[in-house]
Amino acid sequence: MTSIAFIGLGHMGGPMAANLVKAGHDVRGFDLAAPSLELARHNGVTTYTSLAEAVSGADTVITMLPAGTHVISVWQELVDVLSAGTLLIDCSTIDIDSARKAHELAEGKGCPALDAPVSGGTGGAAAGTLTFMVGGAADVFALARPIFEAMGKKIIHCGAASAGQAAKICNNMILGISMIAVGEAFVLGEKLGLSHQALYDVASVSSGQCWSLTTYCPVPGPVPASPANRGYEPGFAAALMLKDVKLSQTAAETAGAATPLGAMAAQLYQRFADEGFGEKDFSAIINMLRDKSGTGAA
Ligand code: NAD
Repeated sequence: MTSIAFIGLGHMGGPMAANLVKAGHDVRGFDLAAPSLELARHNGVTTYTSLAEAVSGADTVITMLPAGTHVISVWQELVDVLSAGTLLIDCSTIDIDSARKAHELAEGKGCPALDAPVSGGTGGAAAGTLTFMVGGAADVFALARPIFEAMGKKIIHCGAASAGQAAKICNNMILGISMIAVGEAFVLGEKLGLSHQALYDVASVSSGQCWSLTTYCPVPGPVPASPANRGYEPGFAAALMLKDVKLSQTAAETAGAATPLGAMAAQLYQRFADEGFGEKDFSAIINMLRDKSGTGAA
């Protein structure tokens, strides 16, 4: 049994911490929001009203926070109170610069650290089937592997510090672009008199096949479990997709990579969010694409 402090018990962190409890770990939790603490307590997490109390005596600390600024401020506080040797893992999706800064903070204190963002959403967090993309030293990855296995199914070591965030950002840029591509194809098909099912039947077994089509199909019907069949309730909210494609564009600018489709995707998700649809599933962007083509929303 490991004593794990879990900081950030929201939509993702809450169920992840609950799965660590189920795996037999002693889990100590802290969140700024009282309702998140209450739910975590209900799930077997021992909760605290300060960060310092929650991490006292823990041999591992996991953070699952909204963005890089939150992670840096919490990790800054952590290195002030933790003993050297405590394992630090950040599972949030954050910008590359903040991920590197977090590793530097940990290194300065003598704490092994990993960036380990996830995919699989709230469903995967609850089911314990997340994919972890991990950056950091190989020996630290090996040490942390059983902890990831309590919360996820696929655990991939991507390379040195910040490589996990790099993989997450690149993957989600593909996802953001491919959803727009699939949406545009359905809108064009509608204009050409092609049924949704016929396009799906062809593209899903042809070279247009991709996750955005076969798992998250943006029109109701062909994939009954996709958000399009339940009024585009997320799923993966457009606001979160916007956050991730923006992270990809910040990273591309810093690294000097040309990502014109990523830039266009960021603009389109921004417009969709500005129009008030940030809380809808990101696949609902098809309705904005359809509006722009002049046929009206479905
Ligand atoms: P969330 O807003 O539900 O949870 C974040 C929690 O952090 C909140 O409960 C908030 O009160 C807490 N918090 C903020 N600052 C804090 C601080 N200083 N100390 C302690 N607690 C603090 O967000 P979420 O959906 O759980 O997402 C968390 C991270 O996971 C984000 O980086 C997100 O991009 C990433 N992610 C989310 C999903 C998803 O489907 N929701 C999927 C993959 C990755």
